[in-house]
This record gives sequence, structure tokens and C-alpha cells, in this order.
Amino acid sequence: QPQSTHPQPRPGILDIAPYVPGKAMSTGGAKLHKLSSNESPLGASPKALAAYREAGVDLERYPDGSSALLRAAIAEVHGLNADRIICGNGSDEILELVARCYIGPGDEAIYSEYGFLVYKIAILAAGGTPVVAPERNLTTDVDAILERVTDRTKVVFLANPNNPTGTYLPFDEVKRLQAGLPPHVLLVLDAAYAEYVRRNDYEAGVELAATAPNVVMTRTFSKIHGLAALRLGWGYGPAHVIDALNRVRGPFNINTAAQAAGIASIRDASFLDLAIAHNEKWRGWVTEEITALGLTVTPSVGNFVLIHFPETPGKTAAEADSYLSARGCVLRAVGAYGLPGALRMSIGDEEANRATVGILKEYLSA
Ligand code: PMP
Repeated sequence: QPQSTHPQPRPGILDIAPYVPGKAMSTGGAKLHKLSSNESPLGASPKALAAYREAGVDLERYPDGSSALLRAAIAEVHGLNADRIICGNGSDEILELVARCYIGPGDEAIYSEYGFLVYKIAILAAGGTPVVAPERNLTTDVDAILERVTDRTKVVFLANPNNPTGTYLPFDEVKRLQAGLPPHVLLVLDAAYAEYVRRNDYEAGVELAATAPNVVMTRTFSKIHGLAALRLGWGYGPAHVIDALNRVRGPFNINTAAQAAGIASIRDASFLDLAIAHNEKWRGWVTEEITALGLTVTPSVGNFVLIHFPETPGKTAAEADSYLSARGCVLRAVGAYGLPGALRMSIGDEEANRATVGILKEYLSA
């Protein structure tokens, strides 16, 4: 082997396709409606904002490395054991910690065909091999996952509801997946959008993470709590899993302001109810209006919808993306997820939703 002229990352690192976040800019001069990253149109709870501002003193001090008060608040609100909670710099960090702790070279980890992109990145970064299970009707297929389990499988990642499809796997199917996995496989229930699921059967997923020795659930403050900028998520699972993750995480991974805002937000149940009600009302409206335009919308339980476009030149998703963006409505192209014919639209405020539907109507009739 010739000597390299500069340091080289480990094999595989340069095979990772970098995560490309949703666009934050429109290409035209119109008012921007950013509906590309599933952020909350209601923003953060006023109580969380106040706590955030108050926390901005004593910047010379390190934060509490164990996020003890935040874990206590989460435990209290959700009826959980604080010792089995770990906080992360976004739930992305928890997913990465899982990969770093449980996956190494030669190991495999499984996720669904249209599963969240960070799984693949985390698996490859850990040196593992991603294994993709095909979906049925844009929904996780439990049998397809179980068929792909081998002795080398270490982790199964399941986003439920899934991003970008918005589809939901009912708890009896999640349970069937868990029951079908060998005991050495860790099942990660990524519940970033859990609060939007009205039927509340995700609480059964919490129960599973509380009782099964091989299930960990991840949650985030980025979506319904409207705190994406602060980077805050958490995981709940068996003591032995949380112990492993804690050994690897950065010693001060959650900053002081995020801890304070998180505590205030998780306690502000009435604000979360408002956010849920807003989402339900407008997700229904957006779905109906866009369907009435002749496009297919995958029924969603999240705070976003996946809109499918025809392949007809002049009517495609890529052209719609440019058209909308030039008029101030920024959606998410999901070609990187293997869905080049679709755009994902986050549910926004009334003005953004109406503007997007109006521009789509104009686009389709142009
Ligand atoms: N899981 C899923 C399914 C997501 O869509 C997202 C956000 N895009 C995350 C996890 C990560 O969110 P965060 O790191 O902001 O908590």
C-alpha cells in the first residue's frame, strides 16, 4: 500500500452520505414558510422560553453532566424510573450512542426501507453493516425485518411513527417484532413523533422499554416541544443498556439552557395539548385539500405528510419543490430516502398551510 499524504478516516467512513438537513431558505423573495424539518409551528412553550432565558447566567459553569433534574422531571411526568433515563444532544445522539455501544465491524443492524436516515449513518460510522428490510405500503413489515435477523444482527431500529412516511405500526405488531427477535438483539423504538399519535398506544411501547431486557425507546424535545434548536432528546431502557450508553456519552452532553427549558416544557402539559390539537386539525385539513387537488397523500399520524406527485413532466415532485420554494414554501425532498416522487410537508401554522395548498393548486393547474 502506498503511504497516504494525509491522515485517512477508517474504512467505510467516506462511504457515508452526509445527512442533508431540510432547506431553510426559499429561492424567491416571498415570505418564508419553512415546512422542511418537522419543527413545531407553535414554537416552544412560553414557560420553556422563560426557563431558557433564566438559565443564561453563570456561563462559566459546566452543566450538570447527568442531567439529574431533567431526568427527574421526565420520570415524574411519564411515571418512569429516572435512573433508566439518559438524555442526549438530540435523540440523534442516543441513536449514535446505541450504534457505538452495540455495533462494530462485522455486525449488522436492520432498519426499514424508508426508515430515518440517521440509522444508516450511525451504523456505518460504527463500522457495522446496514441491512434494509423492505416495506409494504410504505409501512414497516415486521416479517421482512425478522427474516433478515442473523447471528450478526445487533440492533433493529424502528421509527414509529416513521419519518418521512408518517405511517404507524400498531403496538401489537411492535410486540410481535420484539417477541420474534433473539435476546441478543437490541430493539430501538424511535418515538420522536410519539406525542402526535392520538390513540396513545405508544404508551405500550414505553411499557415494553420498561419491562423487556432488549428494548430502548428514544424521544425528543425537537418536535412537539418546539425545542429543536436546543438539541435535546432522551432514551429509556433497561438499566444495563442505559449503563453502557452512559459510559460512552460525552460527560457534559446537555447544556444548562437545554436542561432548564426541557424541565419547564415537559411539565407544561396544556401547551403540549394545544400543539397536538393544532396538528390534528391542520393535518386533517392539509390531507383533504391536497387529496382534492388530485395528489396522493399517505395517511399520517405525525406532524407532517408525504405527498406523492405524478411522473408527468411539468408535474413532478422535483419541479413542485422548485415551484413552491420560489414562492416561499419550503418542503422536504425525500429522494435521499428512496422516494424521489414525493415531498414531505411539515404541518405549519394556518398561514403556511393555506399558502402551500394554494401554491400547489396553482402549480398543478399551470
Ligand atoms: N428520529 C426521527 C424519526 C426523526 O425524524 C428525527 C428528527 N428528524 C430524529 C429521530 C432526531 O431528532 P432530534 O435529534 O432532533 O431529537
